[in-house]
Amino acid sequence: MPMQEESIKLKELISNDKRNIVITTHRSPDGDAMGSSLAIYHLLIQLGHNVQVITPNDYPEFLYWLPANETVLNYEVNKDKCDKLSEKADIIFLLDFGNIYRIEPFSNTINKAMATKVLIDHHEDPDDDIAEIVFSNTKSCATAELVYEVIESMHMKKYINKPIAECLYVGIMTDTGSFKYPSTTSKTHNIISKLIESGAENAKIHDLIYDTSSASRMKLLGYCLNEKLILLPENKSAIISLNNSELQRFNFKKGDTEGVVNYALAIKDIVFAVFIVEKDGLVKLSLRSKGNFEVNKIAKKYFNGGGHINAAGGISNLSVNQTVNMFKEIIERHKKEIIIN
Ligand code: 5GP
Ligand code: MN
Repeated sequence: MPMQEESIKLKELISNDKRNIVITTHRSPDGDAMGSSLAIYHLLIQLGHNVQVITPNDYPEFLYWLPANETVLNYEVNKDKCDKLSEKADIIFLLDFGNIYRIEPFSNTINKAMATKVLIDHHEDPDDDIAEIVFSNTKSCATAELVYEVIESMHMKKYINKPIAECLYVGIMTDTGSFKYPSTTSKTHNIISKLIESGAENAKIHDLIYDTSSASRMKLLGYCLNEKLILLPENKSAIISLNNSELQRFNFKKGDTEGVVNYALAIKDIVFAVFIVEKDGLVKLSLRSKGNFEVNKIAKKYFNGGGHINAAGGISNLSVNQTVNMFKEIIERHKKEIIIN
């Protein structure tokens, strides 16, 4: 089994002398990205290594409570320090992404780094030669689930303490929509059970992630549903979009639009939902589907993006309004594939 060979290599790599290790994850890190990164951090510090988590940019405040969050460096704020740490690193972990462009502009430094690279990820089509040691499984519901299995396969379960358990719980919970997506299996629930036994306070975690929103975030959600929802029932599709001035009106903070797209998909008979938002001077798309309609193909074909069958993302070069119009055409073009679901 390839996983076993990779596990042996990884175990050897991290069981020796003290190493300088960098851990990084994709831009706009989500719960799985941060949970997986900090779980690996907590494993490696127990093994006595020098470890640094570096994110390409900032992430939502509802993840700031994660254990050791205060040690994380943001590349946008600490470019020189992050570059130096990566240059002298012996090992670099790449977590929850498989395409190097997803960590731009930190990708330049990572590409040049001499370190042994280790990829743990569950996205489709990872870049060839992205790492020397590769754990890639598109069936994993979350990178955090795969991280648990990697730890298990290295016979290192004894290191799963409360911080690791909580970080992995967050990754699995957020990437499965709280254990409801089809990617959730009995194995997932078995792992979750083990994480709770290892100290993950499940009810507390759900509260800290989902029930700590600002009032303005809730009002923005209300605005999206009340005024910005475009329903295309004959195509079983829905679109929600927000431009920058709308975001400002609701005192937008990073993370405030996370999950909005799922509300469009919660409507009966809607099987394809699109959320279009202006972010950091770009127009970002979040695509979600139910059933067999493969949104990662749409993201790849039209928006330079990718992701999973039922959840994908990409970037548009057009304005928000133009992107909405373009999407109406795309939906019309793919109507047959969508409504069959
Ligand atoms: P989200 O809509 O939450 O930003 O992303 C949904 C899924 O698509 C996530 O698994 C994310 O990793 C992936 N994704 C989002 N944006 C991109 C992108 O630009 N390129 C690729 N390859 N995947 C993306
Ligand atoms: Mn993930």
